Amino acid sequence: MQFVGNNFVRDCMLSVILYLYWVLIFRNTLKSLFKGDIAMSKFVYRFEEGNANMRELLGGKGANLAEMTNLGLPIPQGFTVTTEACTDYYKQGKKISDEIQEQIFAELKVLEEKQGKKFGDTESPLLVSVRSGARASMPGMMDTILNLGLNDVSVEGFAKKTDNPRFAYDSYRRFIQMFSDVVMEVPKSLFERVLDEIKEAKGVKYDMELTADDLKEVIAKFKTIYKDKMGEDFPQDPKVQLMEAVKAVFRSWDNERAIVYRRMNDIPGDWGTAVNVQSMVFGNMGNTSGTGVAFTRNPATGEKGIFGEYLINAQGEDVVAGIRTPQPITKLEEDLPECFAKFMEIANTLEEHYRDMQDMEFTIEEGKLYFLQTRNGKRTAQAALQIACDLVDEGKITEEEAVLRIEAKSLDQLLHPTFDPEALKNGECIGQALPASPGAAAGKVYFTAEDAKNAHVNRGERTILVRLETSPEDIEGMHASEGVLTVRGGMTSHAAVVARGMGTCCVSGCGDISISEEDKVFELGGKTIHQGDYISLDGSTGKIYYGDIKTVEATVSGNFGRIMEWADKFRKLQVRTNADTPADAANAVRFGAEGIGLCRTEHMFFNPDRIPKIRQMILSQTVEQREKALNALTPFQKGDFKALYETMEGRPVTIRFLDPPLHEFVPSDPADIDDLAVQMMMTAEQVQEICDSLHEFNPMMGHRGCRLAVTYPEIARMQTRAVMEAAIEVKAEKGYDIVPEIMIPLVGEKKELKYVKDVVVETAELVKKEKNSDIAYHIGTMIEIPRAALLADEIAEEAEFFSFGTNDLTQMTFGFSRDDAGKFLDEYYKKKIYESDPFARLDQNGVGQLVAMAAAKGRKTRPDIKLGICGEHGGDPSSVEFCHRVGLTYVSCSPFRVPIARLAAAQAAINESRAKKSFIDDETKENLKEAADKAQAIAKDLAQASAEVAKAGLEGLKAGIEAAKKAFDESRKA
Ligand code: PEP
Ligand code: MG
Repeated sequence: MQFVGNNFVRDCMLSVILYLYWVLIFRNTLKSLFKGDIAMSKFVYRFEEGNANMRELLGGKGANLAEMTNLGLPIPQGFTVTTEACTDYYKQGKKISDEIQEQIFAELKVLEEKQGKKFGDTESPLLVSVRSGARASMPGMMDTILNLGLNDVSVEGFAKKTDNPRFAYDSYRRFIQMFSDVVMEVPKSLFERVLDEIKEAKGVKYDMELTADDLKEVIAKFKTIYKDKMGEDFPQDPKVQLMEAVKAVFRSWDNERAIVYRRMNDIPGDWGTAVNVQSMVFGNMGNTSGTGVAFTRNPATGEKGIFGEYLINAQGEDVVAGIRTPQPITKLEEDLPECFAKFMEIANTLEEHYRDMQDMEFTIEEGKLYFLQTRNGKRTAQAALQIACDLVDEGKITEEEAVLRIEAKSLDQLLHPTFDPEALKNGECIGQALPASPGAAAGKVYFTAEDAKNAHVNRGERTILVRLETSPEDIEGMHASEGVLTVRGGMTSHAAVVARGMGTCCVSGCGDISISEEDKVFELGGKTIHQGDYISLDGSTGKIYYGDIKTVEATVSGNFGRIMEWADKFRKLQVRTNADTPADAANAVRFGAEGIGLCRTEHMFFNPDRIPKIRQMILSQTVEQREKALNALTPFQKGDFKALYETMEGRPVTIRFLDPPLHEFVPSDPADIDDLAVQMMMTAEQVQEICDSLHEFNPMMGHRGCRLAVTYPEIARMQTRAVMEAAIEVKAEKGYDIVPEIMIPLVGEKKELKYVKDVVVETAELVKKEKNSDIAYHIGTMIEIPRAALLADEIAEEAEFFSFGTNDLTQMTFGFSRDDAGKFLDEYYKKKIYESDPFARLDQNGVGQLVAMAAAKGRKTRPDIKLGICGEHGGDPSSVEFCHRVGLTYVSCSPFRVPIARLAAAQAAINESRAKKSFIDDETKENLKEAADKAQAIAKDLAQASAEVAKAGLEGLKAGIEAAKKAFDESRKA
């Protein structure tokens, strides 16, 4: 017993030692394995530590500065505070953490050593610029501060060191002005007034003509303004200046213009911006100094050749501020030939390196050239096509890359008029609302469709129709107008949908307008605009301008066709169009539509001579009355369907049965009510009474869609007959292989669909028999009610195809009225609750989930089910990408958006296949190799540690055996 007990204690001790030993080894091992996690995050990168692939972390500007540094180009050195630091700043409640501050100051020290200058030094101070730089370039959206580091003392040192007091004081006054404006939000105008006053007092015209002493006076006055406004002296500690400037850049990520820019360009709000701190070089040191911006190709036309401008003896902001007229860049060859030669050499290197047109900023300091930035230049759509095609022809990029280089949304510019850029510079913007239908328009304001139409037809005027909201009666006036402006209504309102279909510019939902349609006047942005006054609209930005701004017609070059042809090679999604008239359909086919995905049959009654007929049908009180009204509609319907089938030449055509939201069709105008009374042989009071009885509190959730056909099956009967007869006749006359697709709207329940379908099938079979035809046809449904998406597997038992009506699906998923949401959504953007209009860009998290789920459920029941989308999202690039991912068969959009959808579909397919291919790309391979090396090292450590443990164990064992032996011997002896 004794013997066992002794060993037990010893064994336990041994185990504890062994355990501790393993813990020690594994702690070290785990530490080295997860080194990145345990170590502090890196928030600041020296330029030489980055590269062009790090734009997510360093922002575009930071990544490119790093890349240029590594290419050995003359870049003023510095460092980048990462986008992660920006997100951390917001996470910490708008504070820069101590850790980040420490890293910034550590890098600052390195920069000081490199430059041989000290921050705040009285003899040779280091001055820096602080500039924003997000992942996606957002020109002019965020802030820049130059000459940071100057204060009352260092400016003296700077003056001595440069032997140029005028330059030193000029730099300081600029810094005070910029810091006060950008960082502290003291209005710029206060400083400009001082400058103007002093110039006047000294009798000079330009800032350049002010002497060092004049500038000292300016500085004193600037500092007084600062103190008055801020209640404290202008900060003298450069480190304080720096941290305040970094904070200002972070803050500027969320300024209003940046938020609007992000919304317009689909840039997520959580990306954040990086901050670049770069040692200053000076273009304002005299006549061998200067600064400029240049592009390697013309950003407006795409023409090859250097394009840009510069100013001698100036700092960066002077070029853009338009204080002096800059010189064309080619003039630099005369002024500073060596610099020009070097500049051209670097510009070419950069274009070759990035294989794209570069937008560069440079500064020449006393004859020495520095590059401050390069990026792939922003360009017009026309230039984008030209450049992409040229680069393919020059063998620099592939067709696939060319397709990726064109921003799909920008194609809008090619198909619609735009403002003349020069004329727009003087445009006075008086308001902004929803960019409902792209293009630029200018004309005289009219408040009724009839007045607009008459002014255009009789007097040849360019007109803008301004309405509280539009309705089907306005169609002719909308058609006759250059543009439409509405006070109410969202991106899927009547005005927006119809204007987009026509390709007419439209700005909708401008709640800031106060309008009196009766008095023919409206007020906006402090202006009162009467009938006949000119306004201009930009349907691509939603801006409303005072006066008549010149527009230029769109030009579509051969490059457009080339790019589209390439795009079609890559895309998987088919692209159809939403068209209700042969004219729209023909237009869409020219733009490449492969079929009609949505023909809204109620829109076929928009013409003034037809509206009364559909109204009679809606207002009918008996089956006989309704059948009579329907019989009057049948020839129009059949005629229209025939024309559509002829235009589409055998391409698929999906005809959606009537879905008239009653508020759009029930008459409100007393004159219309009188006319209808005559036609229906009733009194005006009786018609009014029926209209009142049809009033609905929520018309969008009212008696519309298939609910009409459930209550009045004769409507479905009439429409089926019109479709089938039209198809059979055109098939026979033209020989097209027509297979009608009939789509039942607003279905939420399988039995509801089945009820309408039975009516359709019964009528279709009857027509086939009458016409002795064996024509095939398909019956499908729209998925636009959340319940239909939830029960899509059941619904697919009756539906041969689904088309996602994401206008209504968005409306009903969010519970937002599609006509009213514009009134409050702005507040949601400002408060960062939503980043974009869910009626314009599909809400992939919510509505998209319903789409994906319904698609999967539909396929489960019917594996070959055809799936499309016909809500307005079908023409939005990010939504098209989603549709590709979910595996829809086609997207359908308004005619003018067909090219956008074709390009976006191709880009989605290319990006997907690249992502698959690049699963192990070079960078990943490199990372994997690094990880493998690390793993090998760790394994070696482990093996060594294990060997040591084993050795220790063996030794322990040996000692144990020895002890046991000894104990045994002793016990034997005993
Ligand atoms: C939809 O709801 O998405 C749709 C296409 O139908 P409408 O806009 O006509 O309601
Ligand atoms: Mg709908």
